[in-house]
Amino acid sequence: MKQENGLNLMEKIVALCKRRGFVFQNSEIYGGLNGVWDLGPLGVLLANNIKREWWNSVVLSRDDVVGLDSSILSHRRVWEASGHIASFTDPLIECKICHERFKADLKKEIEEHAKTHPSTGSRQVAWTDVKKFNLMFKTFVGPLDNEENKTYLRPETAQGIFINFENVLSTTRVKIPFGIAQIGKGFRNEITTGNFLFRVREFEMMELEYFVEPDTSKKWFDYWRQERLKWYLDLGIKKENIKLVDLPKEDIAHYSKGTTEIWYNWPFIAEDFGELEGVANRGDYDLKQQSKYSGRDLSYFDDDKKKRYVPYVIEPSVGVGRMMLAFLIDAYSEGGNRVVLKLHPKLSPIKAAVFPLLANKMDLVKLARNIYDNLKSEFGSIAFDDRGNIGKRYFYQDEIGTPYCVTVDFQSLEDQTVTVRDRDTMKQERVRIDKLSSFIRQE
Ligand code: ATP
Repeated sequence: MKQENGLNLMEKIVALCKRRGFVFQNSEIYGGLNGVWDLGPLGVLLANNIKREWWNSVVLSRDDVVGLDSSILSHRRVWEASGHIASFTDPLIECKICHERFKADLKKEIEEHAKTHPSTGSRQVAWTDVKKFNLMFKTFVGPLDNEENKTYLRPETAQGIFINFENVLSTTRVKIPFGIAQIGKGFRNEITTGNFLFRVREFEMMELEYFVEPDTSKKWFDYWRQERLKWYLDLGIKKENIKLVDLPKEDIAHYSKGTTEIWYNWPFIAEDFGELEGVANRGDYDLKQQSKYSGRDLSYFDDDKKKRYVPYVIEPSVGVGRMMLAFLIDAYSEGGNRVVLKLHPKLSPIKAAVFPLLANKMDLVKLARNIYDNLKSEFGSIAFDDRGNIGKRYFYQDEIGTPYCVTVDFQSLEDQTVTVRDRDTMKQERVRIDKLSSFIRQE
Protein backbone atom coordinates (compact mmCIF):
# COMPACT_ATOMS: atom_id res chain seq x y z
CA MET A 1 0.00 0.00 0.00
CA LYS A 2 2.75 2.41 1.00
CA GLN A 3 4.57 1.65 -2.21
CA GLU A 4 1.54 2.12 -4.43
CA ASN A 5 0.78 5.51 -2.94
CA GLY A 6 4.48 6.18 -2.79
CA LEU A 7 5.05 5.62 -6.48
CA ASN A 8 2.17 7.91 -7.19
CA LEU A 9 3.76 10.54 -4.93
CA MET A 10 7.11 10.10 -6.67
CA GLU A 11 5.47 10.65 -10.06
CA LYS A 12 3.96 13.87 -8.79
CA ILE A 13 7.26 15.07 -7.39
CA VAL A 14 9.18 14.24 -10.57
CA ALA A 15 6.51 16.05 -12.60
CA LEU A 16 6.59 19.08 -10.29
CA CYS A 17 10.38 19.20 -10.49
CA LYS A 18 10.25 19.26 -14.26
CA ARG A 19 7.25 21.60 -14.57
CA ARG A 20 8.68 24.24 -12.27
CA GLY A 21 12.31 23.92 -13.23
CA PHE A 22 13.88 22.14 -10.25
CA VAL A 23 15.35 19.14 -12.07
CA PHE A 24 15.72 18.20 -15.74
CA GLN A 25 16.86 14.94 -17.25
CA ASN A 26 20.37 15.46 -18.62
CA SER A 27 20.65 15.38 -22.46
CA GLU A 28 16.89 15.19 -22.70
CA ILE A 29 16.90 16.46 -26.29
CA TYR A 30 18.91 13.34 -27.21
CA GLY A 31 16.69 10.94 -25.31
CA GLY A 32 18.41 11.43 -21.95
CA LEU A 33 21.51 10.06 -20.26
CA ASN A 34 20.66 7.43 -17.68
CA GLY A 35 21.33 8.32 -14.06
CA VAL A 36 22.39 11.90 -14.79
CA TRP A 37 20.23 14.90 -13.91
CA ASP A 38 20.58 18.66 -14.30
CA LEU A 39 19.39 21.24 -11.81
CA GLY A 40 17.13 23.94 -13.20
CA PRO A 41 16.84 27.52 -11.90
CA LEU A 42 14.87 26.58 -8.76
CA GLY A 43 16.85 23.38 -8.21
CA VAL A 44 20.10 25.34 -8.06
CA LEU A 45 18.62 27.66 -5.45
CA LEU A 46 17.35 24.75 -3.35
CA ALA A 47 20.61 22.81 -3.62
CA ASN A 48 22.64 25.91 -2.74
CA ASN A 49 20.47 26.51 0.33
CA ILE A 50 20.93 22.89 1.43
CA LYS A 51 24.69 23.11 0.96
CA ARG A 52 24.86 26.45 2.77
CA GLU A 53 22.94 25.07 5.76
CA TRP A 54 25.22 22.03 5.89
CA TRP A 55 28.35 24.15 5.56
CA ASN A 56 27.14 26.59 8.23
CA SER A 57 26.40 23.79 10.63
CA VAL A 58 29.47 21.66 10.00
CA VAL A 59 32.12 24.33 9.31
CA LEU A 60 31.25 28.00 9.88
CA SER A 61 29.41 27.73 13.18
CA ARG A 62 32.25 25.70 14.73
CA ASP A 63 35.86 26.40 15.52
CA ASP A 64 37.09 22.82 15.09
CA VAL A 65 36.34 22.21 11.40
CA VAL A 66 38.00 23.73 8.34
CA GLY A 67 36.99 23.50 4.69
CA LEU A 68 38.73 22.05 1.65
CA ASP A 69 38.01 21.78 -2.05
CA SER A 70 40.11 19.01 -3.57
CA SER A 71 40.13 17.99 -7.22
CA ILE A 72 37.96 15.42 -8.92
CA LEU A 73 41.05 13.86 -10.49
CA SER A 74 43.82 12.43 -8.36
CA HIS A 75 46.95 10.36 -8.81
CA ARG A 76 46.00 6.77 -9.54
CA ARG A 77 47.96 5.63 -6.48
CA VAL A 78 45.36 7.36 -4.28
CA TRP A 79 42.78 4.83 -5.46
CA GLU A 80 45.16 1.91 -5.13
CA ALA A 81 45.86 2.95 -1.54
CA SER A 82 42.23 3.51 -0.63
CA GLY A 83 41.26 0.07 -1.90
CA HIS A 84 38.85 1.43 -4.50
CA ILE A 85 40.62 -0.15 -7.49
CA ALA A 86 40.53 -3.57 -5.88
CA SER A 87 37.22 -3.50 -4.18
CA PHE A 88 34.89 -0.61 -5.03
CA THR A 89 32.67 -3.11 -6.78
CA ASP A 90 29.08 -4.23 -6.91
CA PRO A 91 27.90 -7.75 -7.80
CA LEU A 92 26.68 -7.85 -11.39
CA ILE A 93 24.65 -10.38 -13.34
CA GLU A 94 23.71 -10.27 -17.00
CA CYS A 95 20.69 -11.62 -18.78
CA LYS A 96 22.01 -14.08 -21.37
CA ILE A 97 19.12 -13.38 -23.71
CA CYS A 98 19.14 -9.59 -24.02
CA HIS A 99 22.39 -8.75 -22.18
CA GLU A 100 20.77 -6.30 -19.81
CA ARG A 101 22.84 -6.03 -16.64
CA PHE A 102 21.62 -5.81 -13.06
CA LYS A 103 23.04 -5.35 -9.61
CA ALA A 104 22.79 -8.93 -8.37
CA ASP A 105 21.15 -8.05 -5.05
CA LEU A 106 18.18 -6.21 -6.63
CA LYS A 107 15.80 -9.17 -6.41
CA LYS A 108 12.67 -7.29 -7.41
CA GLU A 109 14.15 -5.77 -10.58
CA ILE A 110 15.57 -9.16 -11.56
CA GLU A 111 12.22 -10.87 -11.10
CA GLU A 112 10.51 -8.15 -13.12
CA HIS A 113 13.04 -8.58 -15.89
CA ALA A 114 12.54 -12.35 -16.01
CA LYS A 115 8.85 -11.72 -16.71
CA THR A 116 9.76 -9.91 -19.95
CA HIS A 117 10.97 -13.22 -21.41
CA PRO A 118 8.90 -16.37 -22.13
CA SER A 119 8.66 -18.80 -19.25
CA THR A 120 9.69 -21.81 -21.39
CA GLY A 121 11.82 -22.51 -24.48
CA SER A 122 15.15 -21.22 -25.70
CA ARG A 123 14.20 -17.56 -25.10
CA GLN A 124 13.60 -18.24 -21.43
CA VAL A 125 15.65 -16.04 -19.15
CA ALA A 126 19.07 -17.33 -18.07
CA TRP A 127 21.65 -15.45 -16.04
CA THR A 128 25.44 -15.32 -16.07
CA ASP A 129 27.39 -16.01 -12.89
CA VAL A 130 27.78 -13.05 -10.56
CA LYS A 131 30.80 -10.91 -11.50
CA LYS A 132 32.41 -8.03 -9.67
CA PHE A 133 31.90 -4.73 -11.45
CA ASN A 134 34.07 -1.76 -10.50
CA LEU A 135 31.96 1.38 -10.18
CA MET A 136 34.68 3.93 -10.91
CA PHE A 137 34.63 5.90 -14.16
CA LYS A 138 37.94 5.56 -15.95
CA THR A 139 39.70 8.35 -17.78
CA PHE A 140 43.17 9.39 -18.97
CA VAL A 141 45.30 12.28 -17.83
CA GLY A 142 47.42 13.82 -20.61
CA PRO A 143 47.52 13.23 -24.34
CA LEU A 144 48.29 9.49 -24.23
CA ASP A 145 45.39 7.19 -23.49
CA ASN A 146 47.47 4.28 -22.27
CA GLU A 147 47.42 2.19 -19.10
CA GLU A 148 50.07 4.36 -17.45
CA ASN A 149 47.98 7.52 -17.76
CA LYS A 150 44.77 5.90 -16.64
CA THR A 151 43.01 7.31 -13.61
CA TYR A 152 39.49 7.63 -12.25
CA LEU A 153 36.85 10.20 -11.52
CA ARG A 154 36.57 10.18 -7.74
CA PRO A 155 33.79 8.01 -6.33
CA GLU A 156 33.93 9.92 -3.01
CA THR A 157 35.50 13.17 -1.86
CA ALA A 158 36.95 11.70 1.34
CA GLN A 159 40.28 10.61 -0.14
CA GLY A 160 40.96 14.20 -1.23
CA ILE A 161 40.81 15.05 2.46
CA PHE A 162 43.15 12.25 3.59
CA ILE A 163 45.81 13.12 1.01
CA ASN A 164 45.72 16.74 2.23
CA PHE A 165 45.81 15.85 5.94
CA GLU A 166 49.45 16.91 6.28
CA ASN A 167 48.88 20.14 4.33
CA VAL A 168 45.99 21.18 6.54
CA LEU A 169 47.91 20.31 9.71
CA SER A 170 50.92 22.34 8.68
CA THR A 171 49.04 25.40 7.41
CA THR A 172 46.36 25.85 10.06
CA ARG A 173 46.21 25.81 13.84
CA VAL A 174 43.87 22.83 14.08
CA LYS A 175 44.40 20.39 16.92
CA ILE A 176 42.78 17.04 17.45
CA PRO A 177 39.83 16.64 17.66
CA PHE A 178 39.24 18.54 14.41
CA GLY A 179 37.53 18.04 11.09
CA ILE A 180 38.00 18.79 7.42
CA ALA A 181 34.85 19.18 5.35
CA GLN A 182 34.17 19.46 1.67
CA ILE A 183 31.40 19.57 -0.86
CA GLY A 184 32.10 18.31 -4.34
CA LYS A 185 31.16 16.02 -7.18
CA GLY A 186 31.48 12.25 -6.96
CA PHE A 187 30.96 9.73 -9.76
CA ARG A 188 29.82 6.13 -9.54
CA ASN A 189 29.01 4.04 -12.55
CA GLU A 190 26.07 2.40 -10.78
CA ILE A 191 24.87 -0.79 -12.47
CA THR A 192 21.24 0.04 -11.84
CA THR A 193 20.13 3.64 -11.37
CA GLY A 194 16.70 4.79 -10.40
CA ASN A 195 14.17 6.43 -8.16
CA PHE A 196 14.92 9.86 -9.60
CA LEU A 197 17.72 11.55 -7.61
CA PHE A 198 18.12 8.62 -5.20
CA ARG A 199 20.60 6.55 -7.20
CA VAL A 200 22.44 8.41 -9.93
CA ARG A 201 25.83 8.24 -11.59
CA GLU A 202 27.08 11.78 -11.03
CA PHE A 203 26.28 13.55 -7.79
CA GLU A 204 27.48 16.12 -5.34
CA MET A 205 28.57 14.88 -1.94
CA MET A 206 28.96 16.62 1.42
CA GLU A 207 31.55 14.89 3.53
CA LEU A 208 33.18 15.61 6.84
CA GLU A 209 36.23 13.72 8.07
CA TYR A 210 36.51 14.36 11.80
CA PHE A 211 39.88 13.25 13.23
CA VAL A 212 40.01 12.05 16.82
CA GLU A 213 42.23 10.28 19.29
CA PRO A 214 41.54 6.53 18.82
CA ASP A 215 40.32 5.98 22.41
CA THR A 216 37.68 8.67 22.02
CA SER A 217 36.27 7.51 18.69
CA LYS A 218 33.15 5.87 20.13
CA LYS A 219 32.19 9.09 21.88
CA TRP A 220 32.65 11.20 18.74
CA PHE A 221 30.88 8.65 16.58
CA ASP A 222 27.86 8.95 18.82
CA TYR A 223 28.15 12.72 18.87
CA TRP A 224 28.09 13.00 15.07
CA ARG A 225 25.19 10.55 14.62
CA GLN A 226 23.09 12.67 16.96
CA GLU A 227 24.31 15.95 15.54
CA ARG A 228 23.42 14.97 11.99
CA LEU A 229 20.02 13.63 12.95
CA LYS A 230 19.24 16.85 14.80
CA TRP A 231 20.21 18.89 11.74
CA TYR A 232 17.50 17.21 9.66
CA LEU A 233 14.90 17.68 12.36
CA ASP A 234 15.82 21.36 12.76
CA LEU A 235 15.29 21.82 9.03
CA GLY A 236 11.81 20.40 9.25
CA ILE A 237 12.11 16.72 8.33
CA LYS A 238 9.24 15.01 10.13
CA LYS A 239 10.37 12.98 13.09
CA GLU A 240 8.35 9.95 12.03
CA ASN A 241 10.10 9.85 8.66
CA ILE A 242 13.70 9.59 9.80
CA LYS A 243 15.68 7.25 12.04
CA LEU A 244 19.17 6.12 12.95
CA VAL A 245 20.04 2.54 12.06
CA ASP A 246 23.18 0.83 13.32
CA LEU A 247 24.44 -1.53 10.66
CA PRO A 248 25.39 -5.07 11.64
CA LYS A 249 29.08 -5.98 11.34
CA GLU A 250 28.53 -8.09 8.20
CA ASP A 251 27.09 -5.10 6.30
CA ILE A 252 29.93 -2.65 6.89
CA ALA A 253 33.34 -2.13 5.29
CA HIS A 254 36.00 -4.42 6.75
CA TYR A 255 37.97 -1.49 8.19
CA SER A 256 34.96 0.29 9.72
CA LYS A 257 34.69 0.27 13.51
CA GLY A 258 30.99 0.97 13.26
CA THR A 259 28.54 2.49 10.80
CA THR A 260 25.21 4.10 11.45
CA GLU A 261 22.97 5.20 8.67
CA ILE A 262 20.36 7.87 8.78
CA TRP A 263 17.36 6.29 7.10
CA TYR A 264 14.47 8.12 5.52
CA ASN A 265 10.96 6.88 4.84
CA TRP A 266 11.36 6.76 1.05
CA PRO A 267 7.97 6.29 -0.61
CA PHE A 268 9.41 3.86 -3.16
CA ILE A 269 10.72 1.41 -0.56
CA ALA A 270 7.82 -0.75 0.51
CA GLU A 271 9.20 -2.70 3.47
CA ASP A 272 11.15 -0.15 5.48
CA PHE A 273 13.08 3.10 5.43
CA GLY A 274 16.35 3.35 3.45
CA GLU A 275 19.70 5.11 3.53
CA LEU A 276 19.82 8.87 3.32
CA GLU A 277 23.21 9.50 4.93
CA GLY A 278 26.01 7.39 6.34
CA VAL A 279 27.98 8.07 9.51
CA ALA A 280 31.02 5.80 9.76
CA ASN A 281 33.86 5.31 12.18
CA ARG A 282 36.55 4.59 9.58
CA GLY A 283 39.23 3.95 12.18
CA ASP A 284 42.78 4.74 11.06
CA TYR A 285 42.47 2.74 7.84
CA ASP A 286 42.59 5.58 5.31
CA LEU A 287 45.46 7.58 6.79
CA LYS A 288 47.47 4.39 7.26
CA GLN A 289 46.84 3.24 3.70
CA GLN A 290 47.71 6.61 2.15
CA SER A 291 50.78 6.71 4.36
CA LYS A 292 51.85 3.22 3.33
CA TYR A 293 51.46 3.89 -0.40
CA SER A 294 52.97 7.40 -0.40
CA GLY A 295 55.74 6.77 2.09
CA ARG A 296 54.69 9.92 4.00
CA ASP A 297 54.15 9.91 7.72
CA LEU A 298 50.50 10.80 8.29
CA SER A 299 50.55 10.42 12.05
CA TYR A 300 49.79 13.22 14.49
CA PHE A 301 51.80 14.44 17.46
CA ASP A 302 49.53 15.33 20.31
CA ASP A 303 51.28 18.24 22.04
CA ASP A 304 49.08 18.18 25.10
CA LYS A 305 49.41 14.45 25.72
CA LYS A 306 52.96 14.19 24.38
CA LYS A 307 52.22 11.20 22.25
CA ARG A 308 52.10 10.30 18.57
CA TYR A 309 49.30 8.34 16.95
CA VAL A 310 47.38 7.89 13.71
CA PRO A 311 43.98 9.46 14.36
CA TYR A 312 40.71 7.66 13.89
CA VAL A 313 38.19 9.36 11.68
CA ILE A 314 34.44 9.79 11.98
CA GLU A 315 32.74 10.46 8.68
CA PRO A 316 29.25 11.78 8.06
CA SER A 317 28.71 11.51 4.30
CA VAL A 318 25.68 12.35 2.19
CA GLY A 319 24.68 13.12 -1.39
CA VAL A 320 23.15 16.55 -2.06
CA GLY A 321 20.65 15.17 -4.59
CA ARG A 322 19.49 12.35 -2.33
CA MET A 323 19.06 14.85 0.46
CA MET A 324 17.21 17.27 -1.80
CA LEU A 325 14.83 14.45 -2.73
CA ALA A 326 14.16 13.74 0.96
CA PHE A 327 13.40 17.41 1.64
CA LEU A 328 11.08 17.58 -1.40
CA ILE A 329 9.20 14.41 -0.42
CA ASP A 330 8.85 15.54 3.16
CA ALA A 331 7.63 19.00 2.16
CA TYR A 332 5.14 17.91 -0.48
CA SER A 333 1.52 18.32 0.52
CA GLU A 334 -1.83 18.52 -1.21
CA GLY A 335 -5.16 19.82 -0.06
CA GLY A 336 -7.91 22.29 -0.88
CA ASN A 337 -7.02 22.35 -4.56
CA ARG A 338 -3.47 23.36 -3.98
CA VAL A 339 -0.08 21.73 -3.90
CA VAL A 340 2.24 23.16 -1.29
CA LEU A 341 5.93 22.53 -0.78
CA LYS A 342 6.23 23.16 2.93
CA LEU A 343 9.98 23.59 2.83
CA HIS A 344 11.73 25.16 5.78
CA PRO A 345 12.05 28.90 4.91
CA LYS A 346 15.83 28.54 5.09
CA LEU A 347 15.63 26.06 2.21
CA SER A 348 12.92 27.66 0.09
CA PRO A 349 14.35 28.67 -3.29
CA ILE A 350 12.43 31.96 -3.27
CA LYS A 351 12.20 33.78 0.07
CA ALA A 352 9.23 35.96 -0.85
CA ALA A 353 7.20 37.01 -3.88
CA VAL A 354 5.97 40.55 -4.43
CA PHE A 355 2.75 41.26 -6.36
CA PRO A 356 1.04 44.48 -7.38
CA LEU A 357 -2.69 43.78 -6.94
CA LEU A 358 -3.41 45.03 -10.47
CA ALA A 359 -0.82 45.02 -13.23
CA ASN A 360 -2.32 48.00 -15.05
CA LYS A 361 -2.22 50.44 -12.13
CA MET A 362 1.10 52.17 -12.44
CA ASP A 363 1.19 53.45 -8.85
CA LEU A 364 0.80 49.92 -7.51
CA VAL A 365 3.38 48.48 -9.92
CA LYS A 366 5.87 51.21 -9.06
CA LEU A 367 5.57 50.68 -5.31
CA ALA A 368 5.69 46.89 -5.71
CA ARG A 369 8.85 47.20 -7.86
CA ASN A 370 10.39 49.38 -5.24
CA ILE A 371 9.66 46.87 -2.47
CA TYR A 372 10.93 44.05 -4.69
CA ASP A 373 14.23 45.88 -5.36
CA ASN A 374 14.80 46.51 -1.66
CA LEU A 375 14.05 42.93 -0.62
CA LYS A 376 16.13 41.58 -3.48
CA SER A 377 19.17 43.56 -2.45
CA GLU A 378 18.91 41.94 0.98
CA PHE A 379 17.71 38.40 0.28
CA GLY A 380 18.70 37.79 -3.34
CA SER A 381 16.06 35.31 -4.34
CA ILE A 382 12.85 37.34 -4.39
CA ALA A 383 10.22 36.99 -7.12
CA PHE A 384 8.06 39.64 -8.79
CA ASP A 385 4.84 38.60 -10.46
CA ASP A 386 2.15 40.71 -12.05
CA ARG A 387 0.64 38.09 -14.38
CA GLY A 388 -2.85 36.64 -14.09
CA ASN A 389 -4.96 36.99 -10.98
CA ILE A 390 -3.70 36.86 -7.40
CA GLY A 391 -5.07 33.32 -6.90
CA LYS A 392 -2.93 31.97 -9.72
CA ARG A 393 0.14 33.75 -8.42
CA TYR A 394 -0.38 32.21 -4.95
CA PHE A 395 -0.89 28.81 -6.53
CA TYR A 396 2.43 29.03 -8.34
CA GLN A 397 4.38 30.25 -5.30
CA ASP A 398 2.84 27.56 -3.04
CA GLU A 399 3.96 24.89 -5.45
CA ILE A 400 7.57 26.03 -5.35
CA GLY A 401 7.58 26.55 -1.58
CA THR A 402 7.76 30.35 -1.27
CA PRO A 403 6.98 31.10 2.39
CA TYR A 404 5.55 34.63 1.88
CA CYS A 405 3.61 36.47 -0.77
CA VAL A 406 3.53 40.25 -0.42
CA THR A 407 0.69 42.08 -2.15
CA VAL A 408 0.69 45.81 -2.78
CA ASP A 409 -2.88 47.16 -2.96
CA PHE A 410 -4.61 50.54 -2.85
CA GLN A 411 -4.37 50.73 0.93
CA SER A 412 -0.59 50.42 0.56
CA LEU A 413 -0.51 53.75 -1.25
CA GLU A 414 -2.27 55.40 1.68
CA ASP A 415 -0.74 53.83 4.78
CA GLN A 416 2.52 52.21 3.62
CA THR A 417 1.43 48.70 4.61
CA VAL A 418 1.17 45.56 2.50
CA THR A 419 -0.59 42.21 2.82
CA VAL A 420 1.69 39.33 3.70
CA ARG A 421 0.20 35.91 3.10
CA ASP A 422 1.69 32.89 4.87
CA ARG A 423 2.19 29.81 2.66
CA ASP A 424 1.28 27.21 5.29
CA THR A 425 -1.59 28.84 7.16
CA MET A 426 -2.79 31.00 4.21
CA LYS A 427 -3.40 33.72 6.83
CA GLN A 428 -2.92 37.28 5.69
CA GLU A 429 -1.70 40.13 7.81
CA ARG A 430 -0.82 43.72 7.17
CA VAL A 431 2.80 44.59 7.67
CA ARG A 432 4.43 48.01 7.43
CA ILE A 433 6.70 48.26 4.40
CA ASP A 434 9.64 49.42 6.49
CA LYS A 435 9.23 46.31 8.69
CA LEU A 436 8.96 43.84 5.82
CA SER A 437 12.55 42.68 5.67
CA SER A 438 12.79 42.04 9.41
CA PHE A 439 9.44 40.21 9.21
CA ILE A 440 10.77 37.90 6.50
CA ARG A 441 14.15 37.47 8.15
CA GLN A 442 12.91 36.43 11.56
CA GLU A 443 10.28 33.98 10.38
P1 ATP B 1 24.43 2.52 -1.29
O1 ATP B 1 24.56 1.41 -0.28
O2 ATP B 1 23.08 3.19 -1.33
O3 ATP B 1 25.02 2.24 -2.63
P2 ATP B 1 26.77 3.53 -0.15
O4 ATP B 1 26.66 2.93 1.20
O5 ATP B 1 27.68 2.99 -1.17
O6 ATP B 1 25.32 3.69 -0.77
P3 ATP B 1 28.24 5.73 0.67
O7 ATP B 1 29.48 5.31 0.00
O8 ATP B 1 28.12 5.61 2.14
O9 ATP B 1 27.00 5.05 -0.01
O10 ATP B 1 27.89 7.18 0.17
C1 ATP B 1 27.57 8.21 1.05
C2 ATP B 1 26.30 8.90 0.64
O11 ATP B 1 26.37 9.35 -0.70
C3 ATP B 1 25.05 8.04 0.68
O12 ATP B 1 24.52 7.99 2.00
C4 ATP B 1 24.13 8.79 -0.25
O13 ATP B 1 23.55 9.92 0.39
C5 ATP B 1 25.09 9.29 -1.30
N1 ATP B 1 25.14 8.40 -2.46
C6 ATP B 1 25.91 7.29 -2.60
N2 ATP B 1 25.74 6.73 -3.80
C7 ATP B 1 24.82 7.51 -4.43
C8 ATP B 1 24.22 7.47 -5.73
N3 ATP B 1 24.53 6.53 -6.61
N4 ATP B 1 23.32 8.42 -6.05
C9 ATP B 1 23.02 9.41 -5.18
N5 ATP B 1 23.56 9.51 -3.95
C10 ATP B 1 24.44 8.58 -3.59
